[in-house]
Amino acid sequence: MKLNLRSFTQLTLASAIALMFCSSPVSAHASVKMPQLAKDTTLSKECKSDNWDEPTAPRHLYGNSWYVGTCGISVILIANPQGHILIDSGPANAFEGVSKSLRAIGVRLNDIRTILTTHEHHDHMGGVAQFQKASGATVLVRQEAVETMRSGKADRRDPQFEILSTFAPIANLKTISDGQMVKVGKTSIRNIPMPGHAPGGSGWTWKECENGVCHQLVFSDSLGSISDDVYRYSGEGGMAAALRASIARIGATPCEILITGHTGGSNILERLDAKAALVDNTACQKLAEVGLKNLELRLQKEAESKPTTAK
Ligand SMILES: [Zn+2]
Repeated sequence: MKLNLRSFTQLTLASAIALMFCSSPVSAHASVKMPQLAKDTTLSKECKSDNWDEPTAPRHLYGNSWYVGTCGISVILIANPQGHILIDSGPANAFEGVSKSLRAIGVRLNDIRTILTTHEHHDHMGGVAQFQKASGATVLVRQEAVETMRSGKADRRDPQFEILSTFAPIANLKTISDGQMVKVGKTSIRNIPMPGHAPGGSGWTWKECENGVCHQLVFSDSLGSISDDVYRYSGEGGMAAALRASIARIGATPCEILITGHTGGSNILERLDAKAALVDNTACQKLAEVGLKNLELRLQKEAESKPTTAK
């Protein structure tokens, strides 16, 4: 692992992560079972809705990456002989369905060693506590999300604070720095800081290859500028500038296979079922354009209306 860090604090953190992910001998992880396409599964690919908890069959995504989410919420497994990586969990009541998807491709929950997260809302994070408990995995989050992940309760920095449900508090959290590279065996996954929809938002990008053909995968965080009735993106402490920067960042990220937290945001299930192209190197740009348009509309509405309460 290359270390190019300035402060001792960062060095300490990086060392801890390097130790956590890189220094264990291969033999210690020799028992990790790699996934395989399910030959026989009772899970159907059919989705009657885009409900967050409606189960659907697991799909092979690309290389060592697999879709194990529900009809409405994406959950990604990056298989690795040194310990699997899970991105997000779906809501709490999707835990059984997502676990079933993982089992259907032969993944044992205790082979998951790392859980990465997009943002601290119950629809994406509600099952993380259960997966962490079942696996003992380390959960990596940006600093801004730590308190909410630890307590399961958002605070007023979150645009949706007044309408959010709580989720089960998550244990074994480790803070990562913005843009940090997470290394597990031969896999390197880079954090993309994406505050704006929620304060602690993250996207993730990594490369997968099949038969010498490599593609850059991106799991983008949500770009939706939605809120409760009180919050103003343009108000004091509002996240308009942060969201604008996140939109620009994701739009500029090399991106060939896009996954979004809500399946409809990237039509990931249709693309995995070959109803649309899986690979599109303009997908992140297009996502950013939609996000920016929505933010501009939102700011225009705020400019036309008075704050509900003084902040
Ligand atoms: Zn959200």
